[in-house]
Amino acid sequence: MNGVSSTKTKVLRLRLKDKHAKFLSDLAREVNFVWNYCNELQITMFNRERRFLSGYDFAKFTRGATKEGLHLHSQTVQAIAEEYATRRRQCRKVRLGWRKSTGSRRSLGWIPFKKVATQVTHGQVKFAGQWLSLWDSYGLDAFQIRAGNVCEDARGRWYLNACVAVPVAEPVDRSAAWRDVGIDLGLKDLVATSDGEKQSAPQFYRGLEAKLAVAQRAGKKDRVRAIHAKIANRRKDSLHQFSTHLVRGYDAIYVGNVNASALAKTPHAKSVLDAGWSAFRTMLRYKCDFAGATFAEVNEAFSTQTCSACHSRSGPQGIAGLGIRAWTCGECGTVHDRNVNAAKNILAAGRRRLAEGIPALLGRGRTSKSVPSWGR
Ligand SMILES: [Zn+2]
Repeated sequence: MNGVSSTKTKVLRLRLKDKHAKFLSDLAREVNFVWNYCNELQITMFNRERRFLSGYDFAKFTRGATKEGLHLHSQTVQAIAEEYATRRRQCRKVRLGWRKSTGSRRSLGWIPFKKVATQVTHGQVKFAGQWLSLWDSYGLDAFQIRAGNVCEDARGRWYLNACVAVPVAEPVDRSAAWRDVGIDLGLKDLVATSDGEKQSAPQFYRGLEAKLAVAQRAGKKDRVRAIHAKIANRRKDSLHQFSTHLVRGYDAIYVGNVNASALAKTPHAKSVLDAGWSAFRTMLRYKCDFAGATFAEVNEAFSTQTCSACHSRSGPQGIAGLGIRAWTCGECGTVHDRNVNAAKNILAAGRRRLAEGIPALLGRGRTSKSVPSWGR
């Protein structure tokens, strides 16, 4: 997909797991220490020379601070000094308030960082030498973090606010008609749409099964791990492509609320766990958010058994029915592809829900919103 003209900066807010609270509070105390040191320095400097310090000036004084027992990244110390200088300038004051680490008027934790001070892998963020777990609601791996901060809210919960660059494509002309699509998440066909498009799961393994078998027989654990990682990457890649393609093509996307953990208890467990439904849904949700498209999860009960043409429940049933690819409706004689039929029912359910829930949205196309095209 082409048409990428520029990037825009977004701030992603992600909740960090509570187990890191102690570690982060300790860091925040050090931040307060650095902040107050800057304040003190500024007061002294003003009294003595009637001069204001810039972020750059502070660097000369704070250099080496991280070697003196602070655990903060040197770039974080620099970020604090710059923020101090900026805010003091904005407030047009000689000095700012002190940050308090204890007592009833304690300042809420705040730890800024710069690009070099973080690292993201597998849904974890490395921060001040520690890997932090978080609820990765955006798929952080897909973004380049530029800068940001870690901060605490009034309830003592910690969040990562990450500034990321998001490529912006030329706005797509959506003046024509509102387009919506239903999506069925399955086993063999990982994704099937109500318009008949499909993305199949086995393609991720293509050419790798043999290599995997050889490595497993030879007991080469590292090699096996590497091949599995490759398969996972291929899957993620193609899910990114497909979700981007969908978000660019439709104004509303409805996905069934398929329950992976319920199916995982059956012999299909492996392919279910493999399927990456939740990853795909997460991608769709945030890409829709950014593009201003509607995203909804709908109850997909009976979506497989119901004929999308005549609404009789004449389709394949139960676990045994999972193997059936195509069927003919006994009531109206329509021939269905199992997954596409399910996607059509999900589309109908999504339209019903939209009509009940947010009537104003129906029939109104996106006009000025631009569509991102990351994920290639
Ligand atoms: Zn029928």
